[in-house]
Amino acid sequence: MLSIVVPCFNEQESLPYFVKEVEEVTSTLAHSVEYIFVNDGSKDHTLESLRELYEKMPDRVRYISFSKNFGKESALYAGLQAARGDLITLMDADLQDPPELLPQMIERIETSDVDCVGTRRQDRNGEPAIRSFFARLFYKLVNKFGDTEMIDGARDFRLMTRPMVDSILAMSEYNRFSKGIFSWVGFNTEYISYENRERVAGDTSWSFWSLFKYSIDGIVNFSDAPLTLAALVGAFSCIVAVLALIFIIIRALLFGDPTSGWPSLVSIILLMGGIQLLFLGIIGKYIGKIFLETKKRPIYIVKETEEDLKKEEK
Ligand code: UDP
Ligand code: MG
Repeated sequence: MLSIVVPCFNEQESLPYFVKEVEEVTSTLAHSVEYIFVNDGSKDHTLESLRELYEKMPDRVRYISFSKNFGKESALYAGLQAARGDLITLMDADLQDPPELLPQMIERIETSDVDCVGTRRQDRNGEPAIRSFFARLFYKLVNKFGDTEMIDGARDFRLMTRPMVDSILAMSEYNRFSKGIFSWVGFNTEYISYENRERVAGDTSWSFWSLFKYSIDGIVNFSDAPLTLAALVGAFSCIVAVLALIFIIIRALLFGDPTSGWPSLVSIILLMGGIQLLFLGIIGKYIGKIFLETKKRPIYIVKETEEDLKKEEK
């Protein structure tokens, strides 16, 4: 069986297109299919659409509705937990993940020892230039300094085998960063490239600021390189300070001590203060993550599933 996990946040407009197109593709497959829609606290009529979908195809559609917006990462986790298939795929509801790649991905996974077929965008067409620039910078940084490889342009759209999904589910951390998790669990992953697509309807829920925070999470959740950097900069400035001190003492002994140079002193104090605050902030970021992690809060809270609908009808 193939499970299709679909996180939905305000997707009432995209859902009909999505189901139609995916149905067209999956009807050509030999596999039985189940959809698991995760309604991530949508403010529009996504939940109503999901109820209707369930009524229409009760043997294929399941849904989970959260009590509020928990974010796509939580939605993916909930969907993977609910999935019962031997092959599991993650797809966005906005058709930016082309369903027509699915047959090819399934064939690849079934005819070789690949455990996961991922997809990546060839280009960033239709994206603001500044966003592409920062995205590239992010991937350069994490791959240079982090221990977990992250592929530029890789999407969450991927087909995975049961063992890989089970190992992802075993990573029950609260601070979830899927791109890192997929890569961290290992397994053989292959990538298919395709041309970037615009979303079919609705709006993206990502602003520049939310992407920025997301990228900081990506770095902090999977690498302690910023802490190493803090230690290195600290050590470097200590060495410079000691050398400067020796220089000043010798100069005072040889040439006397005229009081001068306070502007440079002020600048140095400001610089050091700034660096200290910056690294305090970085350390604080890690402490914040520890704080959230130790609370052991649930990753998501379910308010309604198709089971509830079934009961109501009885
Ligand atoms: N999504 C979600 N919860 C959120 C934000 C997004 O479940 O808080 C879902 C959304 O419905 C879509 C997918 O995640 O199916 C990708 O979102 P979007 O298209 O806004 O992101 P983009 O494609 O621009 O990266
Ligand atoms: Mg999208």
